[in-house]
Amino acid sequence: MPTSSPTVARPADPVSGSYRPLALGDVSFDGGGYWGQWQGLNAERIIAHCREWVERVGWLGNLRAAGDGTLPGARRGRLFTDADVYKLLEAMSWEFGRAGDETWDEQAAALLAVIRAAMDDDGYVNSFFGRPGQPPRYSDLEWGHELYNYGHLLQAVIARVRTTGDREALAIGIAVADHICRTFGVGGIESVCGHPGVETALVEFARLTGDDRYREQAALFLDRRGQGTLADVEYGRQYFQDDIPIRDADVFRGHAVRALYLAAGAVDLAVDRDDTELLASIERQWEATVARRTYLTGGMGSHHQDEAFGEDFELPNDRAYCETCAGVASAMLSWRLLLATGRPRYADDLERVLHNVVATSPGRDGRSFFYANTLHQRTPGSPVERDVQSPRASASQRSAWFDVSCCPTNVARLFSTLACYAATSNGSGVQQHLYAAGDYAAEIDAGRVAWTVSTQYPHDGVVEFTITEAPPTEWRLSLRVPEWATSATLTTPTGTVPVAPGMVRIDETLAAGEVVRLDLAIEPRFTFPDERIDGARGAVAIERGPLVYCLESIDLPGGLELDAIELDSAVPPFMTGDADVAVSLIERRGTNASWPYGAGGKRPPGESHTVRLEPYSEWGERAPGAMRVWIPMAATART
Ligand SMILES: [Zn+2]
Repeated sequence: MPTSSPTVARPADPVSGSYRPLALGDVSFDGGGYWGQWQGLNAERIIAHCREWVERVGWLGNLRAAGDGTLPGARRGRLFTDADVYKLLEAMSWEFGRAGDETWDEQAAALLAVIRAAMDDDGYVNSFFGRPGQPPRYSDLEWGHELYNYGHLLQAVIARVRTTGDREALAIGIAVADHICRTFGVGGIESVCGHPGVETALVEFARLTGDDRYREQAALFLDRRGQGTLADVEYGRQYFQDDIPIRDADVFRGHAVRALYLAAGAVDLAVDRDDTELLASIERQWEATVARRTYLTGGMGSHHQDEAFGEDFELPNDRAYCETCAGVASAMLSWRLLLATGRPRYADDLERVLHNVVATSPGRDGRSFFYANTLHQRTPGSPVERDVQSPRASASQRSAWFDVSCCPTNVARLFSTLACYAATSNGSGVQQHLYAAGDYAAEIDAGRVAWTVSTQYPHDGVVEFTITEAPPTEWRLSLRVPEWATSATLTTPTGTVPVAPGMVRIDETLAAGEVVRLDLAIEPRFTFPDERIDGARGAVAIERGPLVYCLESIDLPGGLELDAIELDSAVPPFMTGDADVAVSLIERRGTNASWPYGAGGKRPPGESHTVRLEPYSEWGERAPGAMRVWIPMAATART
């Protein structure tokens, strides 16, 4: 049954698997460092910004009105806005658990009181359905998001209970979960929600309460999906993954966030039930998706129209959707697969998407966000007003808020739990997956291990591990060497050796006070696309460590346009004296043809320029401008 022990304050607590996640109380990024700064910004600005906006636009008011009996007249916004209040509650709860700031405890309690008052006697809570003048409950499973909202409410309750032991929060969660089981269990409505998300929440709620009925309900939802219980829609049933049973699918398809949330729920169920067939199915789908349907940034979703995956290799850069929530969902899924299997490939992907999608969305002011994360912005676009909400994907700059406001609160809840993603333990040792500066501790079979990570990563590749507490008997520290780190070295008390990408286990029992040093030898590098990706063919991208870089128009010499340059691939990317990554660009001549097609032929090269690049996650921070990740290479045939 629930407890407020910090050892269970983690967003996912699987019953089995290769690795066990550390809890919030086991890790502190307070020393600064890259992710520590993001957590600090989340605590100081992002969560408060979201709190201000859910009030301002009426999302919180909708739930208040549900309690006051003033709906439907008082209702504002799209039908799924309740979920953003729940995600904010989750973020506040984890943040209180992480750093102990009582502001978030008080604010979370206040939100819970509003939600409790909005709830009907039978556990139903929703501000859009079920009252006179509103559509009846569960009358629109395709688009209604009622179970999706519950998923976020249950995750918020789990966060609250795991960080405070709040019994009233638990009672709300049980009322909701029991309502779901009564309404959608055997003999009830034999269908699913158009937007997955409740599956992973029900499994986690079963882990929290020890009540397997909730896990059973998650299994029912997973088994029903793909049976065509939802009506067909204009985007086809694959939009909400109701086209193929989840065990039979070969690749993620349809709406990216839905597909990834569903897969995360499937992994949760598979590890708790030792369902190796289901786990293998999700691994297979993940492999196919990463191999053929994922952007260099780790972003997923090529279609604006249905926020969906494209076909294999359909990865247009200027129409990349790469919703921030799909990045969050991808991180959730990769982390679950890492815990389940121990394969470092999943941590590589987790790191890629955290650095290049999740950290791209929020501005460094903590008050603005990208909803979609394009890889090519052709024009500077128009300025975004700071105090108005934007249509979700149309803004060319970060926006304060959106009519569909799923992304900011998703970033907030992920950042508040980020400490749980960096390292893991198992019986015989601890494993570091993300190189975040901070203090770590874990209980393993031999006893307690504690260590400090010191690093400027990702700006520098040197990572030092100082063991601060170690058991007297044998234990092992394992470190992930990222797939790009092909010249890494490891220094332990017995010497320095080269290490290859993958998981490196140090076969020495380290004692307190001993230091291990991993040098990942970060250098800027060219990255070339698979020839089948038409959207990037003939172009090259630049990466350094885990960071994707981009070219911004603001950095071009005076008068030069972003579409009037090519990259001189004979000159490798290099570091400038200012510690910037730079490349050699060549002006492209004769681009003013009245008909942009022709017989081809080489043109004489134009003038060369050395131009600095920007980490993609920071694009648009200095000024509105055009931007591209993939830069065309010079010396190919031109009209
Ligand atoms: Zn979103």
